[in-house]
Amino acid sequence: MAQIKSPSRYTVTAALPYTNGPIHIGHLAGVYVPADIYVRYLRARGRDVIFIGGSDEHGVAISMKARKEGVSPKEIIDKYHGIIKDSFAEFGISFDNYSRTSAPIHHRTASDFFKKLYKQGDFLEEETEQLYDESADQFLADRFVVGTCPKCGHTEAFGDQCEKCGSSLNATDLIDPKSTITGSVPSLRKTKHWFLPLERYEDFLRKWILEDHKTDWKPNVLGQCKSWLDDGLRPRAVTRDLDWGIPVPVEGGAGKVLYVWFDAPIGYISSTVEWAKREGRDWEPYWKDKGTKLVHFIGKDNIVFHCIIFPSMLKAHGGYVLPDNVPANEFLNLEGNKLSTSKNWAVWLHEYLLEFRGMQDVLRYALTTNAPETKDNDFTWKDFQARNNNELVAIFGNFINRVTVLTHKYYQGTVPQPIEFKNVDREALEAVKGFPGILSDSLERYRFREAGQELMNLARLGNKYLADEEPWKLIMTDPDRVRTIMYVALQIASALAVLSEPILPFSSAKLKGILKLDPKRDDWDGVCQEEALLPAGHTLGESELLFRKIEDGEIQKQLDKLEATKKTNAHMYRETSPQKETISFDDFAKMDLRVGTIIEAEKMPKANKLLVLKVDTGLDVRTIVSGIAESFDPSEIIGKKVTVLVNLAPRKLRGVESQGMILMTRDPEGKLVFMNPDREQVDNGETID
Ligand SMILES: [Zn+2]
Repeated sequence: MAQIKSPSRYTVTAALPYTNGPIHIGHLAGVYVPADIYVRYLRARGRDVIFIGGSDEHGVAISMKARKEGVSPKEIIDKYHGIIKDSFAEFGISFDNYSRTSAPIHHRTASDFFKKLYKQGDFLEEETEQLYDESADQFLADRFVVGTCPKCGHTEAFGDQCEKCGSSLNATDLIDPKSTITGSVPSLRKTKHWFLPLERYEDFLRKWILEDHKTDWKPNVLGQCKSWLDDGLRPRAVTRDLDWGIPVPVEGGAGKVLYVWFDAPIGYISSTVEWAKREGRDWEPYWKDKGTKLVHFIGKDNIVFHCIIFPSMLKAHGGYVLPDNVPANEFLNLEGNKLSTSKNWAVWLHEYLLEFRGMQDVLRYALTTNAPETKDNDFTWKDFQARNNNELVAIFGNFINRVTVLTHKYYQGTVPQPIEFKNVDREALEAVKGFPGILSDSLERYRFREAGQELMNLARLGNKYLADEEPWKLIMTDPDRVRTIMYVALQIASALAVLSEPILPFSSAKLKGILKLDPKRDDWDGVCQEEALLPAGHTLGESELLFRKIEDGEIQKQLDKLEATKKTNAHMYRETSPQKETISFDDFAKMDLRVGTIIEAEKMPKANKLLVLKVDTGLDVRTIVSGIAESFDPSEIIGKKVTVLVNLAPRKLRGVESQGMILMTRDPEGKLVFMNPDREQVDNGETID
């Protein structure tokens, strides 16, 4: 089943966000903004499309968060489902239905799906050994266990996935596993589970992905699928020993739930069913009719689930269409670092809305024109400011403002009758007429960055046209010419109002209001056609600014906030070196540690790091060379009480013999700190033991 040429309808899904935290710009850029642009575009073309989403509310991470906060999982999911749903609405992510996997309709749908596969004999039933935390008295699946990734050696891989190399794992694959509940080393216990034997679908997947879709799927998606397939597929457990989730609905399933990655994608189906019920429609064609184009928008960490596992499930079930495309994005970074919910390294949407009130489109635009479509990309506040000030304000906004202000000034807001078109006018109109096609071409191929740039090119065209024709210079001498120029400029403005809608829905709505565009005539295909969107004699609404400049101070505030996060994280997430091997008391007693006082200090010539110190150890005054010159000025440490290892074998450093060592530690920024007694009244020479 290759790419569908002319679909009769579209089912577009966006990854179900996990309700263990709010969402940030990475989620918007990777999944929700591109999905929303695509759907808005299809609607503008009059296509039959549903946009389906919902919250993913099962799985171990939610149980863990609830456990940590001492509340029920239900409290966690209710809180974040609300926050996430609001954020989507605020940013204009125009779902036709936004459901949640804790909804009864989903429990029923997922349960039925499982039962059908069970009855058809599509599962393997196996008693296996799973990791078990004796002190917590529970099995450890997925994120309840961390350990070393067998593929890349990352030491903090989870029991379901390694976030470093992206490998999907079984908890028992981990080297040196540890329980994240108690920190203890788990034992193995027998338990029964159901497995989907993915290897049965390998031939089908190979042909469907690597042959049928080799030209229309993104190279990063094809690449990941191929590496999965080449690695060899194995049976994958679809159940878990957990108390939070959808109960396994067959004999022997007590105390077990469906694996969150089995139930979550079925959430797309249940959300569609919910939509159909509410709207009095039939859901089935949207999932079962051959003419339906199913598109999953996801981030790259979800490729395996949407391209290998879910299609295998759909294939096993039978009767469903398979995704026509899975345009997964790479990751967005923030100011050079990986976005992280737990490390608070993010731009949170609810915070953005407070700080940049009414500027949702600016973020949509910045994220679209800098989207991580083919490689990981970096969001920087400077780039955000530049895209706003130099593009949205200086080009798009400036053009619209000139056109509307001049129309009000010259013609009391009424579109003038053009007198005579010159070549330059005809060329401008002809060029504008090409833009719906240019944008469609980009959007149909999921090239949203390109579409964003082309949209700005349309605004550039308008800006340049006005700047070249300079109606403000001709208004006294050649008013007829100005009528034609303004008429043409207004048509360009109307094209911008229509074509900007998918990417800049809020600004488009505002602009349509400013131009008083007929809502029945604001369709994509009507741009610069015979019947003008803004005919002569049409009266505009009031002129108003579309975008505002962002000042340096606003950007600095954001950078300061990130800097503060960095400092906090340096405290909380520094790498702790592992404990050294055990020593005997005798080993320890060999060290002669004494309290001393620094009485002289000077820089070692031609050595950046070394200070030459004279230290009163109570036994003698001796020379110690210490590598602390980058942290201290000699003058500030004279008189300091310190701890000295006095029986360390002397050694020469740059020709100076050092007779001992001063004990130091370091603060979160790496600056050295003396280890000294916490009271001043300790004599030099006092032993430490
Ligand atoms: Zn790994």
